Amino acid sequence: MSMRAVVYQGEHDVAVEEVDEPEIEHPNDVVIDITTSCICGSDLHMYEGRTAAEEGIVFGHENMGIVEQVGDGVSTLEEGDRIVLPFNVACGFCENCENGKTGFCTNVNPGFAGGAYGYVAMGPYKGGQAEKLRVPYADFNALKLPEGGSNEDSFALLADIFPTGWHGTRLADLQPGESVVVYGAGPVGLMAAYSAKIQGAAEIYSVDRVPSRLDLARDHCDATPINFEEGDPVEQIKDIHGGGVDKGVDAVGYQAVDPDKEADDAYDPARENPANVLNNLIRTVRPTGQLGIVGLYVPDDPGAPDEMAAEGRLGIDFGLLFEKGQKLGTGQCDVKSYNRQLRDLIIEGRADPSFLVSHRVGLDEAPEMYERFDNREEGVTKVLLEP
Ligand SMILES: [Zn+2]
Ligand SMILES: [Zn+2]
Repeated sequence: MSMRAVVYQGEHDVAVEEVDEPEIEHPNDVVIDITTSCICGSDLHMYEGRTAAEEGIVFGHENMGIVEQVGDGVSTLEEGDRIVLPFNVACGFCENCENGKTGFCTNVNPGFAGGAYGYVAMGPYKGGQAEKLRVPYADFNALKLPEGGSNEDSFALLADIFPTGWHGTRLADLQPGESVVVYGAGPVGLMAAYSAKIQGAAEIYSVDRVPSRLDLARDHCDATPINFEEGDPVEQIKDIHGGGVDKGVDAVGYQAVDPDKEADDAYDPARENPANVLNNLIRTVRPTGQLGIVGLYVPDDPGAPDEMAAEGRLGIDFGLLFEKGQKLGTGQCDVKSYNRQLRDLIIEGRADPSFLVSHRVGLDEAPEMYERFDNREEGVTKVLLEP
């Protein structure tokens, strides 16, 4: 049996191809019919050839669907259940999983801590930008959703970006009444700003260069928009706030644009400085403040602007960070630590992150949407695929 899936072909190229349908491989697996799988900014790192990803990978780590086949050892799920999956694949019983650090499971990806669907170096798990998906350790990984089709867009964001945005604020230890800056107003940055609003931040600053993204931050997250193409964002924030802010979140990562560098197009790698956001955060946040780093950094970057960055070594202003006594937290989100509570905020109407969903399209439109999202086209904020 075969099905359609989004398959990586090489730099800036994906195609919808026929691939083998997944099967139950272990008694604790389920197979789901995908109802929604999202395109993520971290897919773009692979799409742009900025990782070690090789052709043939089925993309898709933000997955939800309906249980279609159930392994003999599964005890809490049955056919027809509607579930959303953390992008992390986790076992549930290793030391890190026991401690809630499911993004760093040591059993699912031998020789490495952490597994994910459809992602380079994250284990053998196929992605869900396809008609069906195999889910390992299904009892542990599945989060059940209410029956019916309610809140499909919002629930789909529980797979990654809503918890990841929330995680950024938790790594920064944001407290009610504090001020916070979020660098990046892509999907994760918007979710971090939205999470800060829900958690009672007094002031939220959102830094980006795309006006439509900054509009969403202002309209839905009560954030003050800061366009870094219009001047040093650190100075802009200090002018408005009157000093350093309490906390900061990096929702950009290593492909950070340096506005002081010139290039033909805004996202030319020649315009990047992978330490740019970290250094801006160190400058924007007050002494003894805390930084949450959820933007992606990688140990190998084939397209890096220089040799150091190609090995993941960055020119961070560590002296200034030390002098200011700042703390920082890093790493991918342990989605299971947050997704149940965030689901319930959605069910009770206290959170509605669907404002950032701009497109819901069929699988056949994936190649075109990858290209448009990669170009940061105005209005293309979050693309959901419906196989
Ligand atoms: Zn993602
Ligand atoms: Zn584990």
